[in-house]
Amino acid sequence: MMLPMMPSRTPKQQLVDRALAMGFESARVAAVSPLEAQAHYEAWLAAGRHGEMTWLASEKHRARRANPELLVSGIRSVLCVALCHPPGADEERDRRVGRIARYAAGEDYHRVMKDKLLALETWIRTELFPGSGSLWYSDTGAILERGWAERAGIGWVGKHSGVLSPTLGSWFLLGQILMDRALEPDEPVGKDHCGTCTRCLDACPTRAIVAPWQVDARLCISYLTIEHRGVIARELRPLIGDWIFGCDLCQEACPWNRFAPPAREARLHGRSLEGWTLERFLSIGEDAFRALFAESPIRRADREGFVRNVCVALGNRRDETAAHALARALEHDASPVVRLHAAWALGRIGGAGSRAALARAVTRDADAQVREEAKLSIAEGCA
Ligand code: SF4
Ligand code: SF4
Repeated sequence: MMLPMMPSRTPKQQLVDRALAMGFESARVAAVSPLEAQAHYEAWLAAGRHGEMTWLASEKHRARRANPELLVSGIRSVLCVALCHPPGADEERDRRVGRIARYAAGEDYHRVMKDKLLALETWIRTELFPGSGSLWYSDTGAILERGWAERAGIGWVGKHSGVLSPTLGSWFLLGQILMDRALEPDEPVGKDHCGTCTRCLDACPTRAIVAPWQVDARLCISYLTIEHRGVIARELRPLIGDWIFGCDLCQEACPWNRFAPPAREARLHGRSLEGWTLERFLSIGEDAFRALFAESPIRRADREGFVRNVCVALGNRRDETAAHALARALEHDASPVVRLHAAWALGRIGGAGSRAALARAVTRDADAQVREEAKLSIAEGCA
């Protein structure tokens, strides 16, 4: 008897199988044509909602985003992948050192994604399509990651502007490989599964989701604690809570995240930062900061921004036992930005020790803004 011939696996099936075997939770293909998301993105930029991330609005970035042909000549397909990071928070660590966005608590996702995407791209170029041209991305350049992921059907763009999937929730990272070979495209999810839900908008403490699908980065805790340099606006500081790097509140509120699977990628599992506390972070020096976060996305905040965030978190916790460490930072930290936020935190905590430290800063601090902040803090917090 003749056995039926097994159909050979198409190049696309081989590629998807390979990506899934490498640990990606989803791998799908988008066809190349102008993205619907492009106009939305341009309007977001035009409204200035990107804040100080001026590189996003540069002519070079805009041209490349609008025309992926400038990135890979003869581009025909975009492979989109999703890699899940841990869906749960480390509550013990967060109590000790403040809250850290889940994607950022482990090894830098740029490094993890780079290793995986580079290995996949090498296989494509050497085995699947020898001699082909391609380029990988993962939060590394001028491409509309969410638009491609939506087109490929990884998920849909939720009202909080992130991509979410009916099977994965939203605790995942995105990556893309732009290819000059045509592959059969996948279907988009095709439907907005947010419906009438507004939980993410309601959960956002700074009202950064100014309207559905409209996040104003200038108000977003994630932007304020990572990208924003210098002083954080006084009226926003109380709303930041104890987030010291990023913010997960809109994703925590999303009902679709009940489907989020555990992270298989061990490198993304959060570090415990054992031995560290918010108070101890106040006195971390440049070298120690670089060493502690050498392989973490947290180094992006720089030591000054990070310790600034720590001051804000301590001010919002209003824990009197932190007053001594904050007073030391106000007196000795070389950064006026850190001293200013330490003064604000002391004002929130209050008490005789805080008042004395602020009074000293009013007369002695070398920086006029710090002196002014200390004066305001005495008037408002420690009066
Ligand atoms: S990350 Fe936080 S601050 Fe930003 S939109 Fe979501 S809930 Fe609001
Ligand atoms: S919380 Fe609701 S509105 Fe927001 S992304 Fe999730 S499903 Fe959509």
